[in-house]
Order: sequence, then C-alpha cells, then structure tokens
Amino acid sequence: MLLDNGSEFDVIIVGGGMVGAAQVLAFCQQHKRVLLLEKNLPKSEWLEKPPLRVSAVNLCSEEYLNELGLWQHLSAEHMCVFNHLSTWEKEASALAKQKLTFSAQDINKSHLGYLIRNEALQMAAFEQFKQLSNPPVISSAELVAIDQDGLTTEQDKVIVRLQEKDVQTQLKSHLVIGADGANSRVRQLLNIGLSGWDYQQHCFSITIKTNFPMQDITWQEFQPSGPKAFLPLSDGMASLIWYDSADIIKQLKQMSPLALKQKVLDVFPPLAGDFEVVQHASFPLTRRQAKSYVDGRAVLIGDAAHTINPLAGQGVNLGYKDVAELSQQLDGIDLTDNSSLTKALQKYQTKRKTESLVMSGAMDSFYTLFSNDKTVLKFVRRGLLNVANKLPWAKKQVLMKAVGY
Ligand SMILES: Cc1cc2nc3c(=O)[nH]c(=O)nc-3n(C[C@H](O)[C@H](O)[C@H](O)COP(=O)(O)OP(=O)(O)OC[C@H]3O[C@@H](n4cnc5c(N)ncnc54)[C@H](O)[C@@H]3O)c2cc1C
Repeated sequence: MLLDNGSEFDVIIVGGGMVGAAQVLAFCQQHKRVLLLEKNLPKSEWLEKPPLRVSAVNLCSEEYLNELGLWQHLSAEHMCVFNHLSTWEKEASALAKQKLTFSAQDINKSHLGYLIRNEALQMAAFEQFKQLSNPPVISSAELVAIDQDGLTTEQDKVIVRLQEKDVQTQLKSHLVIGADGANSRVRQLLNIGLSGWDYQQHCFSITIKTNFPMQDITWQEFQPSGPKAFLPLSDGMASLIWYDSADIIKQLKQMSPLALKQKVLDVFPPLAGDFEVVQHASFPLTRRQAKSYVDGRAVLIGDAAHTINPLAGQGVNLGYKDVAELSQQLDGIDLTDNSSLTKALQKYQTKRKTESLVMSGAMDSFYTLFSNDKTVLKFVRRGLLNVANKLPWAKKQVLMKAVGY
C-alpha cells in the first residue's frame, strides 16, 4: 500500500471505469484532493484486441468530455461517428411498414454521436490524469469498510478502510463516491437497497469484420423475439446486437463463427456486404435503481446508482450526467460544512434520480411496445411511427432527448 495510515483526502472515488474516471477529472479541475481506488487498471493491450464493448456517446456527453480534457485523448481508430439513427419493425405489411430515421441535420447538428470502445473512454481519462494533478490511484487494496457513524469518525469525515493481504489501512475523506458499477461494493457497505428486475431477454453482442465501407448509420429492427441492431465501428468493424431469450443466446454462444454468421444472415436484415464473425459476448439485461443515491457523506454515481435497458444506448450518458451534476453542485462548497454539503447532495440526488427514472421508464415502454406481438400494441406502435414521421416537431423533441439535451 502506498499511503500512510490516516492519510486525508477531500474525495475518495471507488471505481475508475468510464464514469468514475471522468469524476476524478472533474474534481481535479476543482483542485480537490482526490484518491481513486480501481481494482483493474486499464492496460493499452486491451485496445490491441478487437472491440467488444462499445458505447454510443451522445452530443451532450461529447461536449462534457471535451470540457474535462478527456476527448482529446481518443484516437480515431477507436471511434466511429454516426449521423443517422434508423428504426423499423420487421414483418409489418408493405402498407403499414414505417421506417423512422433521425438525422443530424433534423436538429442542425454535424453528427448525432460516436460509437466508442469502452476501454478507450476509460483510458483517455487516465491519460488526462497526467495533465492534471496526477491523483494517486490504488489498485492492490480491497475496500472493506466505510465508517461514518459519528462515534468513530470526526463529524466532517468518512473513514475508509482498505485491506491488502494482512495489512489494514485507514484513510480519511470528506466524501466517498461509489462509481464501482452495477454490483457496487460501496452501495453494499452502505446498506443501500435496490429496486428493479431482470428482463427476460439477454443481449448478445457480435463483433464482425466487414468488407464494406464504414457506415454512418446505426439501425435497429424490432422483431417479436427482440431487437436486432447494427452499430458501425472504425476500421471495417461493426457490432451486431441481438436481443433474445436466454436459451437462444446460450445456443448462439456455442456456435462456430461460420454457423453464427449463417444465423445472422437468417435473422438480421441484409447488411451492406460480406463479413466474418470475430468475437462475441453476452450480457443479462437488468433494470436497477438504488433506493438512495446519497447516504451521509457517501454518494453513488453511474451504474452503481442505476442500470437501464441498453436498448437506446443511454447508460454511460446518464453516468456522465451524474458526474456533471455532482461536480456542479459541489463546486465551491466547503466540504467540512455539513449543512451546505447535505443540501448540495440532496439536490444532486433529486435531479439525477428523476432523470434516471424517467429514462428507465421510457426504455421500458419502448421495449414493451416494440418487442411484442400483441395486436393492440402493433396498432399503437404503427400509429406512433406514423405520427413521428408526420410531425417533424415531435421527431425533433425525441432526437434532442436522445442526444442528451
Ligand atoms: C450490452 C450493453 C450495451 C451497452 N451499450 C451502451 C451504449 O451504447 N451507450 C451507453 O451510454 N451505455 C451503454 N451501456 C451501459 C454502459 O456500459 C454502462 O452504463 C457503463 O459501463 C457504466 O459505467 P460505470 O463506470 O458506472 O461502471 P463500470 O463500467 O461497471 O465500471 C466500474 C469500475 O469500478 C471498478 N470496481 C468495481 N468494484 C470495485 C472495488 N470494490 N474497488 C475498486 N474498483 C472497483 C471496476 O473495475 C470498473 O472499472 C451498455 C451496457 C450493456 C450491458
């Protein structure tokens, strides 16, 4: 362990994934003394392998990541711009078939967003650490306790206990941030409960190497078995997202690349050319909301606070908004002053919980409406697509929300 027992910080951030690492940057910009605990430090070798986990980063997040100085470290080979977003329903009769396409020009923007490798986003933040105060990062020690009961701690501090082999170290901080993902240890140590459920469908992500030029469109076809989506990546690569039952995904996972390619040809709409399957991975779909995002001097952000259906690729964008809001609320606040800190954290919680609940609800309505074969719902969704296509104003509102405004 590199730190002395009793070392003090303004903020200890647990988890340096895409969201936690961005939070480090935001607090360093405010000259807070930050310590990051990340158990799995990013390595450049990660980017030598073909992409597997990618995120659609919207315009609002791009703007914020630029402010944080992170964007400049992203290399073109790990990102792909998209200008159009298209969705339709399979097997709609020719008469009823509606394709809904959103384009950057609908909202007078140059593009709608970028598809970026998750590892590249995380590493870009770590790169920017060097240009700020290069905050200490600990990876070898395990978080074992967070103590803020007032009996063992000073009123304006939290005690964070770390364990490395048989050595325990006790650190002090004004604030602890849980950015440690969906299975957050911080959330567990604080005894914050969860609400939510597991969706019946799972998500299967297939990376393909294509022989066709880079696309600037991402599309999603809704099928009764679940959506099938295409995400363009750089360097002739693309990601195919296949939502289906856990049983079907289990079968797909066992297939050879050639057999899987044939399945894709059978089930997906035609792609723009030939391709080969490079790799794949599956993910369960869960919806989770932490009952509270704040407990005393501890705060949850990103997936530690909420996970949503990835249908519209909003998860990490919500996380970046958490970072922006928390940083704004804490800018200039005296962290030793319980009253102003509590007020700021409550504002953070109210704003972010509301947006995350609204977004989760919207994803669920969309998911139920489109991944369903019930006749009534068929009428409703066709009606909606029709209305959206005929009302440019409504279409614009949906698109502005999708790009984060
Ligand atoms: C299939 C799929 C597709 C998705 N597509 C999109 C998309 O297109 N767009 C989008 O916006 N979102 C998308 N998401 C959601 C997005 O991936 C998540 O919202 C995002 O990864 C959350 O980032 P995070 O930093 O909060 O958590 P994580 O990425 O889980 O990072 C948590 C970090 O904490 C570290 N950690 C955990 N426990 C500890 C500990 N005890 N001590 C120290 N470190 C710890 C981990 O090593 C990790 O680095 C998708 C999700 C899925 C499942």
